[in-house]
Amino acid sequence: MRIGVPRALLYYNFRPSLEYLAQEKTAEIIISSATNNKKLEQGLALCDDEVCLPVKVFMGHVQSLLADVDALFVPRVISLEKKRYICPKFLGLPDMVRAGVGKIPLIAPAINAAWSRHRQLREVERSLKPLGKKRTKLWEALQGAAAAEKQQRRQLAASLDRPPRGKRVAVLGHAYNVFDEYLNFGILKKLSQLGVEPVTVDTFTPGQIDQGAVGLSKDLFWSYGREVVGAAFYCLHSRAVDGVILVASFGCGPDSLITEIISRRFAESSIPLMSIILDEHSSGVGLATRVEAFVDMLNWRDRT
Ligand code: SF4
Repeated sequence: MRIGVPRALLYYNFRPSLEYLAQEKTAEIIISSATNNKKLEQGLALCDDEVCLPVKVFMGHVQSLLADVDALFVPRVISLEKKRYICPKFLGLPDMVRAGVGKIPLIAPAINAAWSRHRQLREVERSLKPLGKKRTKLWEALQGAAAAEKQQRRQLAASLDRPPRGKRVAVLGHAYNVFDEYLNFGILKKLSQLGVEPVTVDTFTPGQIDQGAVGLSKDLFWSYGREVVGAAFYCLHSRAVDGVILVASFGCGPDSLITEIISRRFAESSIPLMSIILDEHSSGVGLATRVEAFVDMLNWRDRT
């Protein structure tokens, strides 16, 4: 059975695990290729206008896989941490896929950190049933994938402690906005070309994010939103970066809230903040110009 994994949304949060599983060949896992204009067009055709850009892109990836796979991996993610949740769009994702592209078998385990370990394992086991005997092997491979994930996080977490190579800028936002080069016109590469070291949310340890999030008057119950706010506030206290670029999506409720919270706090600080909103009409030239101007301003501050 060939299982398709769309290279979109939470793929970017669990990339080491998913790539490990694809290499293991326990099951035939096919990850869709990078986002391109065709996938975006396909996603736009399958979604309402009100839907956020990352979900439109996800649907484009789903469409691109249909001809090559027997089933799609679309987990129904409710919560990844106790008493915290992620955007409800992830809860409804399997239903959106069914409504959008019709009858394709889905491997759609519900993931809920509020459940006991036993109940969660039963749910994963149930969702892997279509794989027959292979599911035991896949289950073993999942343990290896979790180890690969931990290893990558450990490596990244050390980078903030190293002296920066030139200027250092935190590019903060959902992983699918920050790492999808088509959506953000290669902002990380652009910064590197300008001699700036970009760091992203996964560079911050959970401890640093908690330290930053202490500055909130009320704890945020959105897991990923809290990570972004925690990392941004940590930058304010630690002075670990020279500037912060926030990357948000048009049409995203959680992003509009966290952009506002962060902007208000940075308005009282001397660390420069630039916020970028991505939508399907964004221009690569416009974005490159803004990034260049931001870096020029950081360099100019050093000279005055
Ligand atoms: S958090 Fe925002 S960008 Fe992400 S899926 Fe939800 S609405 Fe879309």
